[in-house]
Amino acid sequence: MQVGDDSASSGAGGAVFFDGASSRKHLVDLTFAAELEIREAGELIARWPYDAIRRADGTDGMLRATCEAAPPLARLEIRDRTLAVELLKRCPRFDEDKIGGRGIARIVGWSFAALASIVFLVVYGLPYAAERLTPLIPQSVEQRIGQAADKQVRLLFDNKLCTEPKGQAAFLKLVTTLRTAMGLDASVEAAVLGSDIPNAIALPGGKIYLFDGLLQKANNVDEIAGVLAHELGHVRNRDSMRNMIYTGGTSFLIGMLFGDISGSGAVIFATRSLLDASYSRDVERGADAATIDIMHKLGRSPKPMGELLLRVTGKEGGESGGKGKRLVSIVSSHPLSEERLARMTQEDRQATGTPLLSADEWASLKAVCTAK
Ligand SMILES: [Zn+2]
Repeated sequence: MQVGDDSASSGAGGAVFFDGASSRKHLVDLTFAAELEIREAGELIARWPYDAIRRADGTDGMLRATCEAAPPLARLEIRDRTLAVELLKRCPRFDEDKIGGRGIARIVGWSFAALASIVFLVVYGLPYAAERLTPLIPQSVEQRIGQAADKQVRLLFDNKLCTEPKGQAAFLKLVTTLRTAMGLDASVEAAVLGSDIPNAIALPGGKIYLFDGLLQKANNVDEIAGVLAHELGHVRNRDSMRNMIYTGGTSFLIGMLFGDISGSGAVIFATRSLLDASYSRDVERGADAATIDIMHKLGRSPKPMGELLLRVTGKEGGESGGKGKRLVSIVSSHPLSEERLARMTQEDRQATGTPLLSADEWASLKAVCTAK
């Protein structure tokens, strides 16, 4: 089809027109001139500027248009696909009112505070908006975003979840102990991902992935328990939600507000950045506080976690544990891991609580990705 043909005409009977004054149906031809010319039996009966043309609520199989420069009830109905496409090509603001209508209603349904945050976003930029908006996001919306992010993570890692029953049972026991100590409910889920990258991540909505690559570097259960407690800290503080808003940017926010989340490019981008980017020092310290808190509560020391992470990142900032692979998220920053170990060493306590897993359970967990 020729795109630049500005004088294209529909031929007889291409469209139905209501002038908005009477209920009479006009069978019209459309001419795409400088403006849309609507003709009945050769006579020009209306002229619509393209940028004033908007979508009217339509049914499937028919394009219904209205015009801001015409009487409110004036309608144009087009069944012919080719003709509809020709019109759409010329109307840059065709769907503008759709957002103004349903979308705004949704925002109001949320809260005016959320709307105010959009204003903050425009005025002060993303970091501030992410900070202000995150606490306002309903849990149900965060869950939905989390599910979309989860789909992305599974896609990126070929769905390689490690589910060998004995290892899985040990993992579940450990996660449940930590989660309960933290006072988080069962909507928090965790799984071991069969990837040899040493990492652990928390997604919005409370999904945690421990990567086998980090599990294999661990010498004892307290090291892994500390890591999981750290990720639970991110969940409690809603850090990944905030991070996704920040990295996904404006398009993510807008998609979120208008209910289009799972398929959007922004969620894909934002999920990838959850995997790649590290949190700021303050955010990491906040999650480490959760590790200290929970490990103390359980009568265990947070120090092993600090040792594990420094072992993985290396003392000199090299990639001793990474074999040239990207070291991401929790283990991405080596100055941080030295600082972290120093803090965890200060908080070191003699273990008074029972071991979080038996020796057998720990062995099963270590083998969760390899045992048959
Ligand atoms: Zn972290």
